Amino acid sequence: MKKTFAVGNWKMNPVALKDAEKLFLAMESKARGMTGVEIMVCPPFPFIAPLAKFAKKIVLAGQDCSWSAQGAFTGEVSPYMLKSAGARAVLLGHSERKKYCKETRELVAQKMSIALEAGLKVIVCAENPKELAVTLRRQKGEYAGRVIAAYEPSYAISTRGGRSVSPGKIARAVKDMRNIAGPGVPILYGGSVFAETAGEIMREGDADGFLVGAASLNAAEFLDIVAEAEMG
Ligand code: PEP
Repeated sequence: MKKTFAVGNWKMNPVALKDAEKLFLAMESKARGMTGVEIMVCPPFPFIAPLAKFAKKIVLAGQDCSWSAQGAFTGEVSPYMLKSAGARAVLLGHSERKKYCKETRELVAQKMSIALEAGLKVIVCAENPKELAVTLRRQKGEYAGRVIAAYEPSYAISTRGGRSVSPGKIARAVKDMRNIAGPGVPILYGGSVFAETAGEIMREGDADGFLVGAASLNAAEFLDIVAEAEMG
């Protein structure tokens, strides 16, 4: 059975630590019985350290990090700080960072290099296979086994009940990304996924799992999606 992945990106939610703890604990207790699927959760930065004490099965990841290790960069968060707070991975290049913060491919590639240097795993988002190729081409060291790529068509996020990508199109993009990234780089589907759509996407889209946004704010729905990923 292939190893699969489910990454929950909480984005800028919830606003209170007590709600983040409640949500995380609900996920963590059910996740413990799930084998064969690696589960990651990306909470907002301030919640990483307080959640780290509960994280046994679920791996904590940052939603972004700086392009620099440390220094006079007001408001930035170093990947080394993420690691020190208890994160083991970081999500980079999310389409919302590109849209609202004007992140470029060059910047994402720089962030990826420093995050890998810091010893974090990287979940790197790409709108299409070409974008993934550009980001990976800029990496100097070996990244297989330390990078997970997510096919994240920006038009297909935040779309409950709206626009979706056909499993056939997902399968083609996943195949192209696999050829670009090479062995040891799992490819996730990073468009909207919900409990009712996860099974079909997993079976026919041929991805190694999911990057989940909105549905990861509901422990039961997220775990249903994780279960579909686990079945492969
Ligand atoms: C995403 O942001 O990559 C995503 C899949 O979000 P949502 O599930 O909310 O569409």
